[in-house]
Amino acid sequence: MRAAPVNTSNPMPSPAAPPLSIQGYHAHVYFSADTIAQARALCAAAAGRFALAMGRVHERPVGPHPDWSCQLAFGAALFGEIVPWLNAERAGLTVFVHPLTGDELADHRDHAIWLGHSRPLDLSAFLPTRPPSRPSRPDTKPLHITLHPVTRDNFEAITDLELLPHQEDYLASNSYSIAQASFNPHLQTRAVYADETLVGFMLYATPGETGVPGGYSIWRFMVDAQHQGGGIGRQALERLIAEILAHGGVRQIGISYVPDNTAAQRFYASFGFVEQGIDDSGEMVAVRVCGGEAGG
Ligand code: ZN
Repeated sequence: MRAAPVNTSNPMPSPAAPPLSIQGYHAHVYFSADTIAQARALCAAAAGRFALAMGRVHERPVGPHPDWSCQLAFGAALFGEIVPWLNAERAGLTVFVHPLTGDELADHRDHAIWLGHSRPLDLSAFLPTRPPSRPSRPDTKPLHITLHPVTRDNFEAITDLELLPHQEDYLASNSYSIAQASFNPHLQTRAVYADETLVGFMLYATPGETGVPGGYSIWRFMVDAQHQGGGIGRQALERLIAEILAHGGVRQIGISYVPDNTAAQRFYASFGFVEQGIDDSGEMVAVRVCGGEAGG
Protein backbone atom coordinates (compact mmCIF):
# COMPACT_ATOMS: atom_id res chain seq x y z
CA MET A 1 0.00 0.00 0.00
CA ARG A 2 1.30 3.42 -0.92
CA ALA A 3 1.49 6.23 1.59
CA ALA A 4 -0.53 9.40 1.02
CA PRO A 5 0.87 11.72 -1.66
CA VAL A 6 3.71 13.81 -0.35
CA ASN A 7 5.03 17.22 -1.23
CA THR A 8 7.68 16.58 -3.84
CA SER A 9 8.32 20.19 -4.73
CA ASN A 10 11.95 20.97 -5.29
CA PRO A 11 13.30 23.44 -2.74
CA MET A 12 15.63 26.06 -4.18
CA PRO A 13 19.16 25.03 -3.26
CA SER A 14 21.09 27.35 -1.05
CA PRO A 15 23.67 29.26 -3.10
CA ALA A 16 26.26 28.09 -0.59
CA ALA A 17 25.50 24.37 -1.11
CA PRO A 18 28.79 22.48 -1.51
CA PRO A 19 29.44 20.43 -4.67
CA LEU A 20 28.01 16.91 -4.52
CA SER A 21 30.20 13.91 -3.80
CA ILE A 22 28.86 11.50 -6.45
CA GLN A 23 29.81 7.83 -6.18
CA GLY A 24 27.91 6.76 -9.30
CA TYR A 25 24.64 6.99 -11.18
CA HIS A 26 21.51 5.03 -11.86
CA ALA A 27 19.68 5.30 -15.17
CA HIS A 28 16.19 3.82 -14.80
CA VAL A 29 14.67 2.99 -18.19
CA TYR A 30 10.87 3.26 -18.01
CA PHE A 31 8.55 1.22 -20.20
CA SER A 32 5.14 -0.44 -20.43
CA ALA A 33 3.73 -3.71 -21.73
CA ASP A 34 3.83 -2.13 -25.20
CA THR A 35 7.47 -1.10 -25.03
CA ILE A 36 9.06 -3.84 -22.90
CA ALA A 37 10.84 -5.47 -25.84
CA GLN A 38 12.31 -2.13 -26.89
CA ALA A 39 13.41 -1.38 -23.31
CA ARG A 40 14.92 -4.82 -22.81
CA ALA A 41 16.92 -4.43 -26.04
CA LEU A 42 18.09 -0.95 -25.04
CA CYS A 43 19.28 -2.13 -21.61
CA ALA A 44 20.98 -5.21 -23.04
CA ALA A 45 22.73 -3.07 -25.66
CA ALA A 46 23.90 -0.66 -22.94
CA ALA A 47 25.17 -3.56 -20.81
CA GLY A 48 27.05 -4.96 -23.82
CA ARG A 49 28.61 -1.63 -24.68
CA PHE A 50 29.51 -0.14 -21.29
CA ALA A 51 30.88 -1.36 -17.93
CA LEU A 52 27.58 -1.06 -16.11
CA ALA A 53 25.39 -3.33 -14.00
CA MET A 54 21.98 -4.09 -15.50
CA GLY A 55 19.28 -4.82 -12.93
CA ARG A 56 16.13 -6.85 -13.27
CA VAL A 57 13.48 -5.97 -15.86
CA HIS A 58 10.59 -5.18 -13.50
CA GLU A 59 7.13 -5.70 -14.98
CA ARG A 60 5.54 -3.59 -12.23
CA PRO A 61 6.33 -0.30 -10.49
CA VAL A 62 9.07 -0.77 -7.87
CA GLY A 63 10.49 1.68 -5.36
CA PRO A 64 9.80 5.32 -6.25
CA HIS A 65 9.27 4.51 -9.94
CA PRO A 66 5.72 5.00 -11.29
CA ASP A 67 6.23 2.80 -14.36
CA TRP A 68 7.77 -0.57 -15.13
CA SER A 69 11.53 -0.11 -15.13
CA CYS A 70 15.02 -1.52 -15.44
CA GLN A 71 18.02 -0.08 -13.62
CA LEU A 72 21.45 0.54 -15.14
CA ALA A 73 24.11 1.34 -12.50
CA PHE A 74 27.48 2.83 -13.43
CA GLY A 75 30.41 4.74 -12.05
CA ALA A 76 30.52 8.53 -12.19
CA ALA A 77 33.36 8.51 -14.71
CA LEU A 78 31.08 6.91 -17.35
CA PHE A 79 28.32 9.54 -17.11
CA GLY A 80 29.59 11.46 -20.13
CA GLU A 81 29.54 8.36 -22.33
CA ILE A 82 26.43 6.57 -21.15
CA VAL A 83 23.89 9.36 -20.70
CA PRO A 84 24.32 10.90 -24.19
CA TRP A 85 24.22 7.39 -25.67
CA LEU A 86 20.97 6.60 -23.83
CA ASN A 87 19.48 9.89 -24.96
CA ALA A 88 20.36 9.14 -28.57
CA GLU A 89 19.14 5.52 -28.46
CA ARG A 90 16.07 5.67 -26.22
CA ALA A 91 13.67 6.22 -29.17
CA GLY A 92 10.88 7.77 -27.11
CA LEU A 93 11.39 5.84 -23.87
CA THR A 94 11.70 7.92 -20.72
CA VAL A 95 14.96 7.45 -18.80
CA PHE A 96 15.29 8.75 -15.24
CA VAL A 97 18.91 9.40 -14.23
CA HIS A 98 19.98 10.20 -10.70
CA PRO A 99 23.31 10.42 -8.86
CA LEU A 100 24.25 8.33 -5.82
CA THR A 101 25.40 10.63 -3.05
CA GLY A 102 24.18 8.72 0.01
CA ASP A 103 21.03 10.91 0.33
CA GLU A 104 18.32 9.00 -1.52
CA LEU A 105 15.66 11.68 -1.10
CA ALA A 106 17.89 14.41 -2.55
CA ASP A 107 19.23 12.09 -5.26
CA HIS A 108 15.72 11.31 -6.55
CA ARG A 109 14.11 14.72 -5.92
CA ASP A 110 16.71 17.48 -6.10
CA HIS A 111 19.28 15.98 -8.47
CA ALA A 112 16.98 14.21 -10.95
CA ILE A 113 17.88 14.21 -14.66
CA TRP A 114 15.11 13.29 -17.10
CA LEU A 115 15.63 12.07 -20.65
CA GLY A 116 12.23 12.51 -22.25
CA HIS A 117 9.03 13.28 -20.36
CA SER A 118 9.39 13.50 -16.58
CA ARG A 119 7.14 11.24 -14.49
CA PRO A 120 5.87 11.68 -10.90
CA LEU A 121 7.97 9.67 -8.43
CA ASP A 122 6.68 8.25 -5.16
CA LEU A 123 9.26 9.57 -2.72
CA SER A 124 7.39 8.55 0.44
CA ALA A 125 9.83 5.74 1.26
CA PHE A 126 12.70 8.23 1.38
CA LEU A 127 11.03 10.73 3.70
CA PRO A 128 12.46 10.77 7.21
CA THR A 129 9.04 11.31 8.78
CA ARG A 130 7.37 8.19 7.37
CA PRO A 131 5.27 6.44 9.98
CA PRO A 132 6.63 3.20 11.43
CA SER A 133 5.38 0.16 9.53
CA ARG A 134 4.64 -1.64 12.78
CA PRO A 135 4.35 -0.70 16.45
CA SER A 136 7.68 -0.41 18.19
CA ARG A 137 8.53 -3.29 20.46
CA PRO A 138 7.35 -2.64 23.99
CA ASP A 139 10.43 -4.14 25.61
CA THR A 140 14.05 -3.68 24.64
CA LYS A 141 15.23 -7.23 25.23
CA PRO A 142 17.70 -7.95 22.41
CA LEU A 143 16.49 -10.40 19.78
CA HIS A 144 18.16 -13.79 19.70
CA ILE A 145 19.30 -14.44 16.12
CA THR A 146 19.77 -18.03 14.95
CA LEU A 147 20.32 -19.74 11.58
CA HIS A 148 18.38 -22.85 10.59
CA PRO A 149 18.16 -25.11 7.55
CA VAL A 150 15.56 -24.43 4.89
CA THR A 151 12.97 -27.19 5.16
CA ARG A 152 9.61 -28.15 3.71
CA ASP A 153 8.06 -26.47 6.75
CA ASN A 154 9.59 -23.03 6.30
CA PHE A 155 10.43 -22.67 2.62
CA GLU A 156 7.11 -21.12 1.64
CA ALA A 157 7.43 -18.52 4.38
CA ILE A 158 10.95 -17.79 3.13
CA THR A 159 9.69 -17.14 -0.38
CA ASP A 160 7.19 -14.67 1.12
CA LEU A 161 9.88 -12.53 2.77
CA GLU A 162 10.11 -9.14 1.10
CA LEU A 163 12.80 -6.60 0.42
CA LEU A 164 12.25 -2.86 0.54
CA PRO A 165 11.20 -1.87 -3.01
CA HIS A 166 14.41 0.00 -3.82
CA GLN A 167 16.46 -3.07 -2.82
CA GLU A 168 14.79 -5.39 -5.32
CA ASP A 169 17.24 -4.53 -8.07
CA TYR A 170 20.08 -5.84 -5.97
CA LEU A 171 19.12 -9.43 -5.14
CA ALA A 172 17.77 -12.56 -6.76
CA SER A 173 14.49 -13.78 -5.27
CA ASN A 174 14.53 -16.27 -2.42
CA SER A 175 12.54 -18.80 -4.47
CA TYR A 176 15.15 -18.61 -7.24
CA SER A 177 17.93 -19.07 -4.67
CA ILE A 178 16.26 -22.10 -3.07
CA ALA A 179 15.73 -23.66 -6.49
CA GLN A 180 19.35 -23.01 -7.43
CA ALA A 181 20.62 -24.62 -4.21
CA SER A 182 18.37 -27.66 -4.60
CA PHE A 183 20.44 -28.81 -7.59
CA ASN A 184 23.86 -27.95 -6.19
CA PRO A 185 25.25 -29.73 -3.10
CA HIS A 186 27.95 -27.07 -2.77
CA LEU A 187 25.41 -24.34 -1.98
CA GLN A 188 24.10 -23.96 1.58
CA THR A 189 20.84 -22.19 2.39
CA ARG A 190 19.93 -20.81 5.82
CA ALA A 191 16.78 -19.35 7.30
CA VAL A 192 17.37 -16.49 9.74
CA TYR A 193 15.20 -16.40 12.86
CA ALA A 194 14.85 -13.61 15.43
CA ASP A 195 13.62 -15.48 18.48
CA GLU A 196 10.78 -17.57 16.96
CA THR A 197 10.16 -15.33 13.94
CA LEU A 198 11.48 -16.01 10.45
CA VAL A 199 13.14 -12.76 9.36
CA GLY A 200 15.65 -13.49 6.62
CA PHE A 201 17.45 -15.78 4.22
CA MET A 202 21.07 -16.52 3.31
CA LEU A 203 22.86 -18.66 0.76
CA TYR A 204 26.57 -19.35 0.62
CA ALA A 205 28.89 -21.35 -1.63
CA THR A 206 31.53 -23.74 -0.32
CA PRO A 207 34.94 -24.45 -1.92
CA GLY A 208 33.36 -27.17 -4.08
CA GLU A 209 31.50 -24.37 -5.88
CA THR A 210 33.95 -21.46 -5.66
CA GLY A 211 36.88 -23.61 -6.82
CA VAL A 212 39.10 -21.73 -4.38
CA PRO A 213 40.76 -23.88 -1.67
CA GLY A 214 39.36 -22.62 1.63
CA GLY A 215 37.30 -20.09 -0.32
CA TYR A 216 33.67 -19.50 0.64
CA SER A 217 31.30 -16.98 -0.93
CA ILE A 218 28.09 -15.45 0.41
CA TRP A 219 25.76 -15.30 -2.57
CA ARG A 220 22.52 -14.08 -1.00
CA PHE A 221 21.76 -12.32 2.25
CA MET A 222 18.43 -10.61 2.85
CA VAL A 223 16.41 -9.43 5.83
CA ASP A 224 12.66 -8.98 5.45
CA ALA A 225 11.66 -5.33 4.91
CA GLN A 226 9.56 -5.29 8.09
CA HIS A 227 12.51 -6.39 10.21
CA GLN A 228 15.27 -4.20 8.80
CA GLY A 229 16.95 -1.55 10.89
CA GLY A 230 16.97 -3.40 14.20
CA GLY A 231 20.47 -4.82 13.99
CA ILE A 232 19.22 -8.22 12.77
CA GLY A 233 21.37 -8.10 9.63
CA ARG A 234 24.51 -7.46 11.62
CA GLN A 235 23.85 -10.32 14.05
CA ALA A 236 22.84 -12.67 11.23
CA LEU A 237 26.05 -11.99 9.32
CA GLU A 238 28.06 -12.58 12.52
CA ARG A 239 26.33 -15.96 12.91
CA LEU A 240 26.93 -16.88 9.28
CA ILE A 241 30.63 -15.98 9.39
CA ALA A 242 30.96 -18.06 12.58
CA GLU A 243 29.24 -20.99 10.86
CA ILE A 244 31.54 -20.74 7.83
CA LEU A 245 34.65 -20.50 10.01
CA ALA A 246 33.49 -23.63 11.84
CA HIS A 247 34.05 -25.60 8.62
CA GLY A 248 37.77 -25.21 9.39
CA GLY A 249 40.57 -24.29 7.01
CA VAL A 250 38.75 -21.20 5.79
CA ARG A 251 41.08 -18.86 3.90
CA GLN A 252 38.68 -16.29 2.54
CA ILE A 253 35.01 -15.34 2.44
CA GLY A 254 33.73 -13.40 -0.55
CA ILE A 255 30.63 -11.31 -1.07
CA SER A 256 29.44 -9.32 -4.06
CA TYR A 257 27.03 -6.44 -4.49
CA VAL A 258 26.08 -3.78 -7.01
CA PRO A 259 29.00 -1.33 -7.12
CA ASP A 260 26.89 1.70 -6.23
CA ASN A 261 25.19 0.08 -3.25
CA THR A 262 26.96 2.27 -0.71
CA ALA A 263 24.95 0.89 2.20
CA ALA A 264 26.19 -2.62 1.41
CA GLN A 265 29.74 -1.35 0.98
CA ARG A 266 29.75 0.27 4.43
CA PHE A 267 28.05 -2.71 6.07
CA TYR A 268 30.46 -5.35 4.73
CA ALA A 269 33.52 -3.13 5.22
CA SER A 270 32.66 -3.03 8.93
CA PHE A 271 33.11 -6.84 8.93
CA GLY A 272 36.54 -6.62 7.34
CA PHE A 273 35.46 -7.20 3.72
CA VAL A 274 37.84 -5.35 1.37
CA GLU A 275 36.72 -4.42 -2.15
CA GLN A 276 38.66 -6.23 -4.87
CA GLY A 277 37.11 -4.79 -8.03
CA ILE A 278 34.22 -5.41 -10.40
CA ASP A 279 33.68 -8.92 -11.76
CA ASP A 280 32.45 -10.12 -15.16
CA SER A 281 28.81 -9.71 -14.16
CA GLY A 282 29.32 -6.07 -13.15
CA GLU A 283 29.23 -6.75 -9.41
CA MET A 284 31.71 -5.40 -6.88
CA VAL A 285 33.53 -8.27 -5.17
CA ALA A 286 34.73 -7.84 -1.58
CA VAL A 287 36.76 -10.40 0.36
CA ARG A 288 37.48 -11.04 4.00
CA VAL A 289 40.79 -12.86 4.42
CA CYS A 290 40.56 -15.46 7.18
CA GLY A 291 44.01 -17.06 7.33
CA GLY A 292 42.82 -20.68 7.60
CA GLU A 293 41.51 -20.57 11.16
CA ALA A 294 40.76 -23.97 12.61
CA GLY A 295 37.12 -24.88 13.06
CA GLY A 296 35.28 -24.94 16.35
ZN1 ZN B 1 17.98 4.40 -8.62
